[in-house]
Order: sequence, then structure tokens, then C-alpha cells
Amino acid sequence: MRVQGAIWETRSDWFNSVGREQRIKEYITLANQLIWQRQASFFAAAILAAVYFNPISTFAFYIVVALTELLDQSLGRHSKAWDGKDPVVGRHILKRIALNTTVSALAISVFIVNIAVQQESGGHFTPLFFLFSASLFAVMYNSQMVGILMLRLSIYSVAFLSIAFLDVLRFSPPLNSDIWLEFFTIIFVLYFIIDISAKFYVRYQERLDQMKLIKEENKRTKAALEVKRQFLATVSHELRTPLTSIMGSLDLVNHGALGEVPEKLKPVIGIAAKNGRRLADLIDDLLDLQKIEAGEMEFHFEPINVNDLINEAVESIAGYADKLHIRVTTVPCLRDYLIKGDRTRLMQVMNNLLSNALKFSEEGGVVEVRAENLGARVRISVHDEGVGIPKDAKERVFGKFTQVDSSDVRKVGGTGLGLNISKQIIQRHDATIDYVSELGVGSTFFIEFDRLRDSEDESPDIAPVAEVA
Ligand code: ADP
Repeated sequence: MRVQGAIWETRSDWFNSVGREQRIKEYITLANQLIWQRQASFFAAAILAAVYFNPISTFAFYIVVALTELLDQSLGRHSKAWDGKDPVVGRHILKRIALNTTVSALAISVFIVNIAVQQESGGHFTPLFFLFSASLFAVMYNSQMVGILMLRLSIYSVAFLSIAFLDVLRFSPPLNSDIWLEFFTIIFVLYFIIDISAKFYVRYQERLDQMKLIKEENKRTKAALEVKRQFLATVSHELRTPLTSIMGSLDLVNHGALGEVPEKLKPVIGIAAKNGRRLADLIDDLLDLQKIEAGEMEFHFEPINVNDLINEAVESIAGYADKLHIRVTTVPCLRDYLIKGDRTRLMQVMNNLLSNALKFSEEGGVVEVRAENLGARVRISVHDEGVGIPKDAKERVFGKFTQVDSSDVRKVGGTGLGLNISKQIIQRHDATIDYVSELGVGSTFFIEFDRLRDSEDESPDIAPVAEVA
């Protein structure tokens, strides 16, 4: 009793070792996955043996082998419910694996030795080859659990040696005969099987260790990302508050609320206000990005009239367009089509597309905002005749903190975050954003939404051009 207890204590140590549930689960999953492959080879072997040897005993033993498969199937079902945590259930599964392995290895061995016994004399190529294949199959697919593999291989080894000794006992041949040669060859093959099973086991162990390392690395990366996220959120927040009061004070000075601003001071205050706005934009973008990535950005979806959306967006940017001497035209849909969206967030996207179109256009240029019905979809596009975007720059255009022209000669400012944020907002609308562009000719950025259905005709239409700014 004490000995049995000791065995299970050792088992229990093994059981508490890293990756034990994974080993058991992988073992059982693989055993169940390979059932047809295993059955096909057993069946082929049985047919072959039945043709050349006694078919009745061959099929009788084959049926026993096939029945042991049922044990594996029932174990597979049983272990599916195991969450990998309860060690009592785990130990029970382990015992059953050991039992199934013993029964199945014994059945296969008897099936094969029976063939060898029926052979008149030496050269037991067929049964030995069957046994070799079964051993190799076990080595390849059972290396997750070295104890179980060893159990199976020990039973096969007894079968190997029984076949090897069969003719030695039958014929008591001299040491220089073929029978002894065959005997020593079998010993060599046994050594080979044990050697490769050790190698397979070591490989499997290495794979487990690597997976453990990757998991730990993944955990550390996640923790570092969380620290970065919190740092960004705090810094952005702490910067936003004083900046708002600086900008407010500058506004008061600028509008003469504190008295006439001396001419000499005006440009300095202008520069301070401009840079303050840039900083505020950057902080807003950072806060948005952090919110979106943390899944904390709230969306309030409602039906939105696409024509209203483009008009509103163009109106809100009109002042900026005037300042740059750029004309903005709109081409609305003939009918008022609806999409489902968050008005504030879509205005943010439109604002980003429009301000990009304006800032990358030359003075005197034209920007066109168009709404189109494409049947089940609605497209809003913002077209400019500006600098254009080189080919293969899509990743940079929609990337984080990336700009196509990041050189020192860059004329226009920006954070390189706008389109990344826009893309994430658009994706939350189950919509798409993309562009076509030609360097030196211009760009068209477009967003496409599913259209909300209504009872009227759905044919595509385009309205005449209306000039807005
Ligand atoms: P930024 O704040 O730099 O404008 P965005 O994410 O909005 O950041 O845009 C990323 C980059 O894509 C821009 O820096 C610019 O190089 C390119 N880009 C965006 N829109 C246009 C456009 N209409 N014409 C030319 N280049 C554009």
C-alpha cells in the first residue's frame, strides 16, 4: 500500500509541474484526432494478415484492438469537461490514460505476435514492421507524456523480444545463424526507437518552455502597455487643464478685454496662441487615441442625414478655408439619405478630412465634398487638388504619429494622429475609409456607410454643384 502511495505521490509531483493540463489535453486531443488514421492502418494490417494467415484469429484480435479505441473515445468525452484545474479529476484522467494505454498496447502486441507465431520460421518481417510502425506512431504522437509513452513502448518491447526469441526457442540455432542476426537487429531497432522517443520528448519539452516564455513575455508587454496608457492619460490630462487657462488668458488679451494690445506685442501673442492651439490639438488627439484604444470612447448612434452632415462640416471649416483662400464646394445627394452614426464623432472625422484637404492644397485651390448614393451604401468624399500622396504610403497615412512628409521642409503642421483616429472611429461605425491620390495632382479621401433603408426609390443619384465658401 505504501509503495502504491509513493507512486501516486510522485505522480502528484509530476501533476503539479508546469504545463501538466496542457500535456494531458494535447495528448487526448491528438489521440482523438488521429483515430481514423490509426484505424485505417490497423484495418489495412488486419486485411493483409487475414489473407496470408489465419483470418479468424486475426480478425478476433483486430476487433479487440478496435474496441480499445472506444475506451479512448469515452476518455476524450470525459476529459472535455475538465477545466484543467481540479487535480483530483486530473489524476483520475491520468489513471485512465495509463489503463487505456496498457489495454491498447497489449491488444496490438497480441495481434502482432499472433501473426509471428503463425509464421513457420525466421524472417518475421511483416509482424516486426507492424510493431515498428506502431512504436514510431506512439513516439511521434505520445511524446507529451513520457511516462505513458514509456509504458506503451515497454509493452511493445516485450512483443519485439517475444518475436525475436520465438525462433531462438523454436530452433536453438548456432550463434552465427540468421536467426541470431535477426535477434540482434531487433535489439538495435529497439535502441533506435528509445533514442528517437527521447529526442521527441526533449523537443516537446523545449516547445513547452518556449510557450511559457512567450506567455510571460506577453504578460510583461501587456503590463508595460498599461503603464504607458496610464502615463499618457495622466500627462495629457494634467497638461490640458493649465493649457486651457493659458489659452483663455491669451484670448482675453487678444480681444482687447484687458486694454489695447501694443502693436509690438501682437505678433508674439499671435505666435503663442497658434502654438497653444497646436499643443491643445495634440493633447486632444492623444486623449482620443487613448480613449479609443482602451475602448472607453462612447458612441451615441442615431440616424444622420448625410447631406446635413456634409453641409455642417463645410460650414464649420469655412473660416479656415477663407483664411487659406481656398474654395469649398459641396455636391449633395438629390435625396436625404440616412446613415447610422455618432454625429459628434463623424463631425470630427469630416473635420479631419477637410482640414487635411485644405492644408495640403495651394492657395486659390478648390476642395469638393460630395455625397453619393451607391445603392445599399452611401459614400462621402473629400476631393482636393493639392500635393497628393505618393504610392505605397497607406500605412503611414493611417498610422500613428506618422506623416508622409516628415522632413524638415514640411510646411504644414499636424500630429500624424488625425487619420488614425478617424479610421478607428469609422471602423466603430462598421464603415470604411480609404483614399485615391496622385502626387502633384490631388487626393480624394472617402468614407462609406451602410445606408438606412427607406421606402423611396434607391437609384444612385448626384445633385448639381453648390458653392459654399
Ligand atoms: P496630420 O496631423 O499630420 O495631418 P493625419 O493623420 O491627419 O495627420 O494625416 C497623416 C498624413 O497623411 C499627413 O501628415 C499627410 O502626409 C497625409 N495626408 C493626409 N491627407 C492628405 C491630403 N489631403 N493630401 C496630401 N496628404 C495628405
